[in-house]
Amino acid sequence: MTRPVPLRKSPSGIGGRQTFVIVGAGQAGSQAACTLREAGFHGRIVLIGDETQGPYMRPPLSKKFLAGDFDEDRLYLRPEAFYRSSDIELMLGASVESIDASACRVHLNNGLRLGYDKLLIATGSRPCRLHVPGSDGPGIHYLKTLDDSLRLRAVIAAGKRIVVVGGGYIGLEVAATAATAGARVSVLEVGERVLGRVTTESLSSFVEKKHRERGVEIHCGSRVVSFEGGDRLRSVSCEGFETEADIALVGIGAVPNVELAQLAGLACGDGILVDAHCRTSIDNVFAAGDCTSHPSRFASHRLRLESVQNAVDQAGIAAHNMCGDERIYDRVPWFWSQQYEYKLQSAGVLEGCDEIVERGDRERGSFALLYRRAGALIAVDAVNMAGEYLAARKQIAEQTARPPEGVVPGRAGQRAA
Ligand code: FAD
Repeated sequence: MTRPVPLRKSPSGIGGRQTFVIVGAGQAGSQAACTLREAGFHGRIVLIGDETQGPYMRPPLSKKFLAGDFDEDRLYLRPEAFYRSSDIELMLGASVESIDASACRVHLNNGLRLGYDKLLIATGSRPCRLHVPGSDGPGIHYLKTLDDSLRLRAVIAAGKRIVVVGGGYIGLEVAATAATAGARVSVLEVGERVLGRVTTESLSSFVEKKHRERGVEIHCGSRVVSFEGGDRLRSVSCEGFETEADIALVGIGAVPNVELAQLAGLACGDGILVDAHCRTSIDNVFAAGDCTSHPSRFASHRLRLESVQNAVDQAGIAAHNMCGDERIYDRVPWFWSQQYEYKLQSAGVLEGCDEIVERGDRERGSFALLYRRAGALIAVDAVNMAGEYLAARKQIAEQTARPPEGVVPGRAGQRAA
């Protein structure tokens, strides 16, 4: 369904006769459209999204919304009337199929061809698919969209056997929500510990313990080899053992949606390569959010982040720069997760840590892990310790003020991760 909101006549001003097109109406796309208006851009803004809902936040999809404790209305980032009153044309259920960068035009699946003066690509990411025998069968879920969350919510119930494949944040949040609802939950993680890609053993062991206390079985070092069943899912097989299942949720990471950019000839690696000004390798084309790989003064390599912070902050910078500014994106990366009564908050980049200092009391479920490199604070993980976390985040921003050797902020073409 395409629902273009009629454009009101704009007063002339900055970019009055220009058209800025944004591909992807997610967290980053929506933020960019709003910031363009706040920055005084008076031209035409077209925000194109292939989902049928207006821009919404995804974090509750694995937490309170999945649990049924959060109304759908609250998911929407802004009411539809906001886009109308801000002269932002919201085209929903419409997908951009190609970009003709030499003609400055995008081609949509509904036949529309739209010229642009500047383009922002904010196409986000999608869940990695697990390709093993039976993985196309019934009862196997992925979680990215509002519709995915509604489908999953409809089948989570007390007594149901739910197998979560992948002990990352999304898998563990679903495990917590399902266990709280009384389901019998198993987590199958191929690595040696949960959250192995994002944090230290110290936090992983705390998280594993809390899940086990709620009756969640955690099997690390378990590689799924097949899903078994006929008309419905019956079990999930790993090398060496099998676990019964009514439902499986696969949460094994995400890949950036870069195909559109690649086809248009933009430089891509693990994400669309942007410089610190959110510019891509082609003039007048910017990118922001999950789909980008960007230089960072907090790391010795490019980062591709999947977080609300990155989507919002990077999109804001991109929007200002589309208006002619030269702002640099250099915010401290941060993230949060909610599992049971525990709010996990992380900031910084865990690279080259040589000292871990623990504050608080993990037995009471409130502590922080401060990660240092050569005496400087580089990252923090906190559990129910917001004050310590915020102070650490501020300190990280101050202490990591110098770019790592060999990294020149603001330019593309730095070493890919
Ligand atoms: P997306 O939100 O993925 O939006 C991109 C949009 O572009 C999508 O709607 C996509 O369908 C659309 N699109 C793609 N290609 C095209 C095309 N060719 N034409 C038109 N439209 C297109 N982050 C946190 O910081 N904390 C959390 O607790 C947290 N929890 C999460 C829980 C879940 C279940 C999920 C899925 C994510 C969570 N995240 C969390 C991550 C966070 O939501 C993302 O990092 C953020 O949404 C990224 O925003 P984005 O705009 O870059 O991408």
